[in-house]
Amino acid sequence: MTTSEQLKTKAFADSLGYNAQSSTPPSEIDLRFERYRLQYVARGMFLNEGSKQVEAGVLSHKYNVHKTCKCLFTRYSNGVQVLQSNEHKTCFYGGLVVCGNVWTCPVCAAKIQERRRVEVAQAFDYAYKSISGKKVILVTFTFPHYRWQKLNDLLYMQADAYRRLRAGEPWKRIKDRCGYEGLIRSLELTIGDNGWHPHTHEAWIVDESTDTEVLRSVLTERWLNMCNRAGITVNNEDAFRLHAVDIIDNAHCSEYLAKQDSSRHWGMDRELVKGSSKIGKINSKSGVHPFSLLNENRESEFMEYARAMRGRPQLFWSKGLKDKVGINDISDEELATEIEDTADLLAQLKNEDWSIIVKSGVSARTDILKAAETRGLQGINEVLEKLTSGMKEIPSPDNASSASLGHPIMTESEIRKKQLSENILQRGSEVYQSVHVVSPVKQPSISACLSLAQAVELMKPYPQEPFVQPEH
Ligand SMILES: [Zn+2]
Repeated sequence: MTTSEQLKTKAFADSLGYNAQSSTPPSEIDLRFERYRLQYVARGMFLNEGSKQVEAGVLSHKYNVHKTCKCLFTRYSNGVQVLQSNEHKTCFYGGLVVCGNVWTCPVCAAKIQERRRVEVAQAFDYAYKSISGKKVILVTFTFPHYRWQKLNDLLYMQADAYRRLRAGEPWKRIKDRCGYEGLIRSLELTIGDNGWHPHTHEAWIVDESTDTEVLRSVLTERWLNMCNRAGITVNNEDAFRLHAVDIIDNAHCSEYLAKQDSSRHWGMDRELVKGSSKIGKINSKSGVHPFSLLNENRESEFMEYARAMRGRPQLFWSKGLKDKVGINDISDEELATEIEDTADLLAQLKNEDWSIIVKSGVSARTDILKAAETRGLQGINEVLEKLTSGMKEIPSPDNASSASLGHPIMTESEIRKKQLSENILQRGSEVYQSVHVVSPVKQPSISACLSLAQAVELMKPYPQEPFVQPEH
């Protein structure tokens, strides 16, 4: 790597805070809490959207709006298991739906990206150790974007520009000239002052002798041409030529991962230690990961993002490269549900216990895991007892957004009472109707009607998450 490239990489890492001397890396447990917390906020947003779609007659159930709102909340079998990894001693849940979505789920994203990094490292090993005369270069393609542009439109134009870039004889000649053997492409997205910023980082395996300056200038001209044809607005072609294509020569895995780590702008690893209020400020020039939208409760933008990214893979390997490197093709969903090492069953939670945990607010799921890791089964029981007795006064998932916006936080029992009182008259009327139909006796008094309804209501089991069949 040349000095200027080293400086570039260092500047990049600095911008992410990786080289900051003052930051102490937060613990895995803190990171886990942050991921679960953001996932919980995402769930609230999806459920709001789901409710709207139910009202509009588009969906029959709000939970079906997006799999992320079921992730690590919804049971797919009877009971929920708390499992403990034999190797790492960390605890995790079994028996729950896992969404496997790298775009919308902070919990799954962390797990999947960690595993994908191992695969990428294998590809670099392959390039430098298994074959001779090759090297890896990192090619980044960006394009101008503006605050007023919709993400979907930008992604459409970007995809169109890529298709054109890689089509026909001229592209074949570029590949032949540099002895191109394959690539891994990572689709990245940030949001900042200038709106959505989709871009890609690509690790190309090419001949050792490839002159990256020449390649950069050829690629830049072709990229500019294709961006124009795809309808991307390029107001300043000189700036485009300077910035739109970047190449790091003789790249190593750590550099690719540092680039990919831009996806960690939401960056619990450094921001946690500065306090949660500072996580990923969106109004910044450099842009931050869209998970920051969750932190700032920017619901409509997060929904725009979730809709636009649906079904888009984050990582793409060129045809045949995985086979050469010896990687099994496994989907994100499969990866997210995979247990990496052997685990012991620490506790089997009853359905009603899980319902209480789900209804107990943002930290209940991680409180259970933390207690399991430090105090085992006894710890789990203590947390459950505390939650059951209503000592933990935190908002329910459906009220998470309003609570964080400064509205009064209702305890679970208050919410339950409110729901009860709202339902009482309705139920009373229904009970009266059924009594009346079965036996046309004298109309019961209002109070008799209410207490009967209340009794019926209280006898009903605690509200359950909807049961869904395993989806994978
Ligand atoms: Zn998930």
